[in-house]
Amino acid sequence: MARAGHTGAPPTITPRRAPARPTRIPDDPLLLPLQFLKGVGPRKAADLAKAGLVTVEDLLYRFPFRYEDRSRMQPIAGLRPGMRVAVLGEIKSAALTTTWRKHMRIFNAVVGDGGGAIRCTWFNQPFLADVIVPHQQVVIFGEVKLDSTGLHFQGPEFELLGDDPEMAYAGRVLPFYERTGTVTPNMQRKLVRQALDGLPADIPDLLPSVLRESRGLVGRRQALEEAHFPPADVDLAALNAYRTPAQQRLIFEEFFLFQVGHAVRRHTTAAELKPVVPRVDDRIRASAAGILPFRLTPGQKVALREIVEDMQRPQPMHRLLQGDVGAGKTIVALLAAVVAMENGLQVAFMAPTEILAGQHYQNIARLLASSRFRVDLLTGSTPALEKHAIHASLERGSTHLVVGTHALVQEKLAFHQLGLVVIDEQHRFGVAQRAALRAKGLRPDVLLMTATPIPRTLALTDYSELDVSKIPDLPPNRQPIRTIVKPESRRDEVYAHIRAQLDAGRQAYIIYPLVEESEKLDLKSATEMADHLQAEIFPAYKVALLHGRMKQDAKERVMHAFASGQLQILVSTTVVEVGVDVPNATVMVVEHAERFGLSQLHQLRGRVGRGQWESSCILLYQAPWSDEARERLKAMADTSDGFVIAQRDLELRGPGDFFGTRQSGAPMLRTGDLVRDAELMEAAHREARRLVDHGQLTPALTHFVTSRWPAQFGFSEIG
Ligand code: ADP
Ligand code: MG
Repeated sequence: MARAGHTGAPPTITPRRAPARPTRIPDDPLLLPLQFLKGVGPRKAADLAKAGLVTVEDLLYRFPFRYEDRSRMQPIAGLRPGMRVAVLGEIKSAALTTTWRKHMRIFNAVVGDGGGAIRCTWFNQPFLADVIVPHQQVVIFGEVKLDSTGLHFQGPEFELLGDDPEMAYAGRVLPFYERTGTVTPNMQRKLVRQALDGLPADIPDLLPSVLRESRGLVGRRQALEEAHFPPADVDLAALNAYRTPAQQRLIFEEFFLFQVGHAVRRHTTAAELKPVVPRVDDRIRASAAGILPFRLTPGQKVALREIVEDMQRPQPMHRLLQGDVGAGKTIVALLAAVVAMENGLQVAFMAPTEILAGQHYQNIARLLASSRFRVDLLTGSTPALEKHAIHASLERGSTHLVVGTHALVQEKLAFHQLGLVVIDEQHRFGVAQRAALRAKGLRPDVLLMTATPIPRTLALTDYSELDVSKIPDLPPNRQPIRTIVKPESRRDEVYAHIRAQLDAGRQAYIIYPLVEESEKLDLKSATEMADHLQAEIFPAYKVALLHGRMKQDAKERVMHAFASGQLQILVSTTVVEVGVDVPNATVMVVEHAERFGLSQLHQLRGRVGRGQWESSCILLYQAPWSDEARERLKAMADTSDGFVIAQRDLELRGPGDFFGTRQSGAPMLRTGDLVRDAELMEAAHREARRLVDHGQLTPALTHFVTSRWPAQFGFSEIG
């Protein structure tokens, strides 16, 4: 189940500045400021603006959060406990009381519909006494509850029909809007009605007519009308799932406009040409094959082919290589690097941490040992003298491949001829970094690699201008990882399991979460745990602690000792630092697993199962856990497919939170929902690219992209 907030509910509302007093009526009737509507003075306009509503367009592109069929109101006499219903009635009485003990203010109203009456109760909302007054018509929504006082609604949503007979709309499907700030649902409905009535029959439409025809889309005017006031014969279920032709047309419109902006950006960048375009011939193929220590999987082959084809184009590549942990992305990148180097181009290979950079370096240096290519490692801890030498060697062109951290692009490095940049474990290599490269006169091919699988929809929004390759399979003979979810109270069984593995010569990770606010506390518990494990549980083995506050060289020493088997148990508080490859480690224990996000857990699990032995991942949780935590751990136990996990993560957390603390590139959407409307986003992406690639952008669309796109989707620049 998606969290309620992500489906149906309108997306984030950003207050917009109230317009200056309108002086001129714009050509596009949808850009009319709401102040032109009857009953909207400067004061109300300011309230509306605070709720994100400035123009008629803002108003009409905020969908109702629910539609109710007025002809299907439940008679009060037929209500039973547990029913979720809408009832229509008159407010018979209303009273505000204060409880004697807790000073709680309770507002009670009784609503009757002729056949029966029911009580509604709201806690601590005394202002309702001024709103809900007797003799008004009201619609109440909510769940019918039963207690010793009888049937009632507790804190139901309500909709006053007031004295406006037009608002009764008996027997039709009515929109219900979310209250935003001081803008009541009722007020919104009236304004929407008025705004729709004021629209001419023909309004401008940014969707090109070819597209409207080929996709059989409802006209814009009609779509707006029906998204708010649907025809009587509408399918109510489809309506509330936002799947009617009218709603889908407007959502598609929004997605398409979003994608057009990205397609244009991609097209513009692609207009730049590389100074050297790599070629591939049999000699180069043989050279690449020469370093290959194993056969590529079919998935690796496809990905490699896509990458190498891209590299042979005159425009710089900007491609994302997705593959689950352990899918074997490194070798694919390295083969691409060989193609670049065989063409006389240099390669920069970047990793998020020094440990990972070091590991890549060792790996790559070993694989290229018999080749003529020179590989260097450049990190913050490279001694000054050596650094100097490497800089010089890069500038001369005698270093062919340099491995380093992500800081490599920022450094004052001069390359002889940089042709390929490989960036590991960072899915955002944004506009800024590319600008930094371009500023140095460099237009290399860029290959991003990520083991945080990105659900297709997000890849299409966040990384819309990237091309994506995917390694869907894993190298052969991988042992599946057993995932076990256990309460913390059954720790003894876990220790027994670890002991059995250590006795068999294997190694284990034990991970502690690190929560910002209580960093010290967590560190203390991790330190104590490491001591306790060493002294009391596993005295015969060596236990060490790794945490984020350790000095770089201390960290490296511990990691190195673990990788070389001198340590059997690594207790770690840091997640990033363990992006390492220790095939002999077969147990991953995650303490407080309920505190980790799904993608993080998946990353951690990927640290084991890298060798020939069967591995296990034990997720220890501390009760009580939330329903969401339970869902998360269950998803981990159910599947090992990173893409499935990523999709679940997206559904559980919503697009905004998906990437955790990283700045989200999620667009501001008004009608669409990235989870609910994923297929429409796919279609919009396809159509937008096709249109732009075929040079069929209409003048109106071009104008939209350059003038309104960034503001509408919440981006400060288009790049
Ligand atoms: P990731 O995609 O997580 O970066 P790596 O590139 O580190 O994965 O590969 C994981 C392990 O699998 C490495 O030890 C690598 O040598 C090995 N590997 C990769 N591809 C293959 C293959 N086709 N056959 C056998 N082993 C492979
Ligand atoms: Mg990797």
